[in-house]
Amino acid sequence: MARMKAVQVRKPGGSFELVERNIPDPARGQVRIKVEACGICHSDVLVKEGLWPGIQYPRVPGHEIAGRIDAVGADVTNWQAGQRVGVGWHGGHCFTCEFCRRGDFILCRNEKITAIHFDGGYQEYVIAPAEAVAAIPDDLPAAEAAPLMCAGITVFNSLAPAIWSRFKVSADLVISVFNMPGKWDTVLSRSGADRTKTRSPANSEPLFTLTRRPEIPLRPSKNWVAPA
Ligand SMILES: [Zn+2]
Ligand SMILES: [Zn+2]
Repeated sequence: MARMKAVQVRKPGGSFELVERNIPDPARGQVRIKVEACGICHSDVLVKEGLWPGIQYPRVPGHEIAGRIDAVGADVTNWQAGQRVGVGWHGGHCFTCEFCRRGDFILCRNEKITAIHFDGGYQEYVIAPAEAVAAIPDDLPAAEAAPLMCAGITVFNSLAPAIWSRFKVSADLVISVFNMPGKWDTVLSRSGADRTKTRSPANSEPLFTLTRRPEIPLRPSKNWVAPA
């Protein structure tokens, strides 16, 4: 069987280890991606240090993946070998829970998380659920595309509603929702606010506070079309 290199963490708090593994085959509903680049996210520390409940080790970190589909499993009809794709934090959803039926796949009750529930991008090949994969333009270099899959989408999804509603936003506007078992954390900031806070419904006390930076006007790109 063909082999590949992978960087894994053998146990919570363990060191990164370069190992050889068999190249896995995609099962039904999965694709195999030949990894061209993988960004490094601070959330990789959750895997490295065992800070997320239920991770099975050894585990390969990395959830900012860019590459090319190499093989598809049974019943995968929307992807084919050769397509350039990426995978981010969101690693798949069930399509049947109440959130999925609303289209809020990121809130899926049965959500999978890349590199938490299956091995991530610090390896030569990744197996991912077909619904977790996003297309990447052919002319976007992999090393530039990879960080967009987590850091990029986080910022984009934070700023897009502000652009749509034509708010001026402050430089530190961040709306970020972290789906952690038993805890929801939201970081919010808006123009005119003195501080930004993150709160958890389970604990109304702010977890930390950021000082507001000077406001800057946010300019849509020249390709931006305001929604009707
Ligand atoms: Zn990340
Ligand atoms: Zn679901």
